[in-house]
This record gives sequence, structure tokens and C-alpha cells, in this order.
Amino acid sequence: QAPVITVDGPGGSGKGTVTQMLARELGWHLLDSGALYRLTALAAMRQGVALDNESELVKVAASLDVSFEPTPPGEPARVILAGEDVTSEIRTETCGDNASKVAVIQSVRDALLQRQRDFRQYPGLVADGRDMGTVVFPNAPAKIFLTASAEERARRRYNQLKEAGVDVNIDALLEEIRVRDERDMNRSAAPLKPADDAQVIDSTGLSIKEVLDRCMAVAGQ
Ligand code: C5P
Repeated sequence: QAPVITVDGPGGSGKGTVTQMLARELGWHLLDSGALYRLTALAAMRQGVALDNESELVKVAASLDVSFEPTPPGEPARVILAGEDVTSEIRTETCGDNASKVAVIQSVRDALLQRQRDFRQYPGLVADGRDMGTVVFPNAPAKIFLTASAEERARRRYNQLKEAGVDVNIDALLEEIRVRDERDMNRSAAPLKPADDAQVIDSTGLSIKEVLDRCMAVAGQ
């Protein structure tokens, strides 16, 4: 089996950036599992499926017609849903919030499980998510749990959005982050928590380079 490094943690902990850099540095594949939950929510909304309609959501998740297309190093992969580029659409706060609503449903998670495991290919995989080390790749040789204070995560998200020209209120962002954390940690289906054998890295006050160095050390590189 190809090696896999799992990187779990709450949104805004720096996981997205760090896993992209790790994958590039190692020359490994990258699984952005959050994108699959975001895509399930987006596809459901487009098909008029309510976000609590379990049986229909499972069908949406199981039949997702998605491809991840490589982009130049350092850029996130292009995400194509049924032939349409939805790369920026799935990144909105609304889509993230809706993703965390469909993600509480165990049967939806089950429907996405094999699709995630199929990313484990040579030379190796960096897996980004909430339950990569606990559920999807429990036998991964290297597991990281990346966290940061909610205030720091709100600040990072605020700066990201500001750079993209989006005007937001930082207190509202902080509140959204708290609500989403709460939902991710307290759900019964694969709650967000470090695997027993994960190394916890708190990125509060660390630069991306410092976080990357620590992750590379855990990865044994
Ligand atoms: O990481 P990202 O913000 O893209 O994930 C969106 C939502 O999808 C998370 O808030 C979480 O509820 C859900 N998710 C999950 N399990 C994963 C990845 C994401 O439940 N492995």
C-alpha cells in the first residue's frame, strides 16, 4: 500500500495551505476531502435536494460526477462538477456551512468513503480533512492534527477574504467558526478529534514555513 500522511483539524488551521505544500514537496497526491462534502452540498442544492433529506443526499454523494484537475504548483486543483468549473463556488462560506450540515449524516460519509480511499496511490498521499487519521486511513504511518485558536483562524480567514476583495466583519467570521467547530466536534458521525496516534501541532503564532517544517518532521522527511 502507498504511504499516507493524514492532516486533520478545524477549518482555518492552515491545513489547506500546508497540505498543498507538503504534497508538492514530497511529490505525492493530495486528497482535499472537505471538497467532497462541499461538492455534495452544492450538487444537492442544484438538484433541489434538502440538506436533511438523508436518502436523497446519499444518492447525490454516491453519484458525484467530479474530477480534480491539476494546476501549476502552489495553486489549488481545479474542481470540475458535471463538466462545470466550481473551484471558487465551493469555497464560499455558505457552501462550507452547508457541507458541515451534510457531513453530520453517517450514510453520506459512508457513501464518500471508498472514493477517498481510492486516492491512496503511489508514490504517496497527503490527506486533508477531519477524520483522515481516525476513520478513512486509520493505519496511516504518519498522522498530524493541526489546530489554531478560533481568534487566529478568524483573523486568517478575514485576511484571505480581504485580499480577495470581499468585505466581511471579523466578529461574524469568528461566530461562524465557533458554530462550525461546535457542529464538527459534537456530531456522532466521525466527530473532529485527533487520532490517538496523531501528533498535535498548534499553528497559532507560527509561520507557514514553521508549520511545514514540523509536519515534514512528523512525516519523517
Ligand atoms: O475542510 P473544509 O472546510 O473544506 O470542510 C468543509 C466541511 O466538511 C467541514 O466543516 C466538515 O463539516 C466537513 N468535513 C468532514 N470530514 C472531512 C472533511 C470535511 O466532515 N474529512
